[in-house]
Amino acid sequence: MNPNHADVFDPTVYLNGEWGPLSEARIPVLDRGFIFGDGVYEVVPLYAQAGGARLPFRLAQHLARLNRSLGKIRIDNPFDDAGWRALIHRAIEANAGPGDALVYIQVTRGVAAKRGHAFPAGITPTVFVMLSQVAYPSDASRAQGAVAVTAEDKRWLHCDIKSISLLGNVLMAQHAAEHDALETIQLRDGLLTEGSSSNVWIVAGGTLLGAPRGPRILEGIRYGLIEELAAEAGIPFEERDVTEAELRAADEVMISSATKEVMPITTLDGKRVGGGRPGPVYAALYDAYQRAKAREFANQASRAG
Ligand code: PMP
Repeated sequence: MNPNHADVFDPTVYLNGEWGPLSEARIPVLDRGFIFGDGVYEVVPLYAQAGGARLPFRLAQHLARLNRSLGKIRIDNPFDDAGWRALIHRAIEANAGPGDALVYIQVTRGVAAKRGHAFPAGITPTVFVMLSQVAYPSDASRAQGAVAVTAEDKRWLHCDIKSISLLGNVLMAQHAAEHDALETIQLRDGLLTEGSSSNVWIVAGGTLLGAPRGPRILEGIRYGLIEELAAEAGIPFEERDVTEAELRAADEVMISSATKEVMPITTLDGKRVGGGRPGPVYAALYDAYQRAKAREFANQASRAG
C-alpha cells in the first residue's frame, strides 16, 4: 500500500513476469509506450457474483480483439489465449474483494536502447495487467439517462486498432467533462462515428442503427453483442452510415462500452432526445444484456463445476 495514499486501492499487478503492488511497478522511460504511444490495450469487465467470485464477460472476444490489435501494429502476441486467461485469473485471485471490477491489459513494443521511430530489432514486448474497481451506472442514472455533447472527430483513420495513443479520445473525454456530459459523440464529414470511449447507437422509426464497422471506429465487444441482443429482442438493426441530421432527429440515442454496458443518452447538445426519457429500444436491449450476462455466467459456472 502506498503510504501517501492509504485510502487508494493498490492492486497487485503483473508487469513483465513479476507480480507486485501497482504503486511499486516501474517501466524504463525508453519504453516505446511512453515515448511513442506504441502499444495496444484491452479492458475486460468483471462482474461480482453472489458467492464473491468475479467473472469476466465475453473474455474470448476481448482476447481475439487484443490479438487483432497486436497484429495490426505488428507486435507478436506474447501469450496465447490460455496464457492470457491464466494471467487474468491470477489478477482476479490476487485482488480478491467485493464489487465489480475490470482487467486492464497493455502491451507495448518494448524498451528500446535509444529513441528512434522505426521498430528496433530484437526487443521484447512490455506486458502489464491490472485489476481496477469499477462502479457500473446506477439504476437512478439509468432511469434519468445521460447527457452527451457532439464534436468533430479529429482522430487518425485507424480507430479500429485499440491503440494506447489516445490523445484524440482524451481530448474528447475532457470536452465532455467540461460540458458536464458523460460522453462526447463524434462526427466525421457529417457522419456519426463513435464516442470518446464508447460506440453510439440511434433508433429511427423503430430501427436500431450503428455506424459501419471499419477504420473510423473501434469495434466494441458490445458491437456484435448489441447486434445479437437486438435480434433476440426482435428489434430491426442496420449497420450503415448515420448522418448528423439523423442523430439529432433520433427517437433514441444510446452508447455502449464495457463499463457503461448500454446507456441511454437523453440530452444531446442541450436538447432533449426523443421524449427526453430512456426509450423502449434501450429498455429492451438493457434487459437482454442482463440476460446475456446471466447466461454466460451460468455457462462458466457449469464448465468450472
Ligand atoms: N470505441 C472506443 C473509442 C472505445 O474506447 C471503446 C471502449 N473500449 C468502445 C468503442 C467500446 O468498446 P467495448 O464495447 O469493447 O468496451
